[in-house]
Amino acid sequence: MFYESTRGEFRKVSSAEAIKLGIAPDGGLFVPSEIKQISVSKLAEMTGYSYQDKAAFILKEYLSDFTEEEIKECVSKGYGHDRFDVPEIAPLRQIDNTLHILELWHGPTSAFKDMALQLLPHLMTRAAAKTGGKSTIVILVATSGDTGKAALEGFRDVPGTKIIVFYPQEGVSQMQRLQMVTQEGANVAVVAVQGNFDDAQTGVKSIFGDKQFNLELSRQNYSLSSANSINWGRLVPQIVYYFSAYLDLVAGGNIKQGEKINFVVPTGNFGNILAAYYAMQMGLPVNRLVCAANANNVLTDFIHTGIYDRGRSFKRTLSPSMDILISSNLERLLYHLCGRDPVRVRGWMSDLNQKGVYHIDGGTRDGIDRIFWSAYSDDQETLETIRSYYRRFGYLVDTHTAVGLSVYQKYAAATGDATRTVVASTASPFKFNDSVARAILGEEAVRGKDEFKLLQVLGETSGVAIPVGLRGLDQKPVLFRETTAKEQMKAVVQKILSV
Ligand SMILES: *Cc1c(COP(=O)(O)O)cnc(C)c1O
Repeated sequence: MFYESTRGEFRKVSSAEAIKLGIAPDGGLFVPSEIKQISVSKLAEMTGYSYQDKAAFILKEYLSDFTEEEIKECVSKGYGHDRFDVPEIAPLRQIDNTLHILELWHGPTSAFKDMALQLLPHLMTRAAAKTGGKSTIVILVATSGDTGKAALEGFRDVPGTKIIVFYPQEGVSQMQRLQMVTQEGANVAVVAVQGNFDDAQTGVKSIFGDKQFNLELSRQNYSLSSANSINWGRLVPQIVYYFSAYLDLVAGGNIKQGEKINFVVPTGNFGNILAAYYAMQMGLPVNRLVCAANANNVLTDFIHTGIYDRGRSFKRTLSPSMDILISSNLERLLYHLCGRDPVRVRGWMSDLNQKGVYHIDGGTRDGIDRIFWSAYSDDQETLETIRSYYRRFGYLVDTHTAVGLSVYQKYAAATGDATRTVVASTASPFKFNDSVARAILGEEAVRGKDEFKLLQVLGETSGVAIPVGLRGLDQKPVLFRETTAKEQMKAVVQKILSV
């Protein structure tokens, strides 16, 4: 098993190298040379496994140059019971006869990014040791809010690493910002970018692609890597919970072994739903993958038309972690669907870069049609969905999960499909408490209260415990106040590394 770049202009690498590099130096993304197959009998064998054992089982398929002991050790550290607040790690909640919700936010930062980022630092440091590098790994992160905190928590004080997080100054919630700027740890830095998430992501990508700068850094004994979902080490842990959800449905008697189900995934950078695609290609019985978008509905349009057009205004919504117009991981999907043709992928990506738009061919489009369905939910619909699920089922969801539920209802109404469906719940409702409180208590009850007062109100109203990581954030000292223009990000990295 090796890894190849979607742009086809870099040599094949081992899984350790793919994880250490993060992004391929030709600008592409690493993908596995083959999609491993999990047979029905293997699937049955996994049924009684703990989450940790399921994770080790899937990981060893793709991390072929890691030993079984190394993988087991990474998994038990990453998914330890001191890190997650429920023993199931990713519990499945039944809503009604067809709908289940997969809660992916029981890690330390209350968003699904922990599912991968609690593991990645362990994979990364082992990958570095295997590939013989002696330099300090510098993790550069562009975040729409949740990745940043999850990566900071994962990498804090990990020997041999430093981490620098860039977040859009106006694009994150108060809770998300405080989570990041109060981060402790000797190897961490947090910087606000004057711009939106796409600006931050473009800035980070251009630093990765700057050969001169990378050379200079290597002279100073630094090598850059990524904790964004462009890193294969982020994706592979995410495949696990789709298997886990399926096996939980079988174990609960909700489906028969082999029966197909749907997954609905609130989508931004296309990482989470791409992991579902890999699970499906590995043999997990899936009927349809539903890509749920917010008003930044570039992916919905793409899935309907085969035209990716980022030439539209960027909208700030109540689901900020999905406010993205350039979905990086789509490149991996296209690479697989077009028959692993790097020439076509290069063409599309260069069109995106130069014209802001690309058109895919008919064959690739058919591949998308067979697997995906998509719609989007605007802020009003999102708030109504939060209210309605709380009233009807006593179940509280955050704004991103609500986008998923709202789109699920549109899917069911449009297609009449009654297949059992799992909606990925990507954040704790307490993480976006301003919107959630507004939805269930009304405008009046929320007015004049800050997010910390609302946290308390929401906890009291719903009777649900407030996650430890969000309590008392307003009491912590702010450690990072730096702001940068998006053109200055490289200089900021240089400055942080030279002290
Ligand atoms: C990151 C994030 C998403 C989007 O996930 P992608 O993998 O980027 O598609 C959705 N919801 C929340 C809460 C997130 O943090």
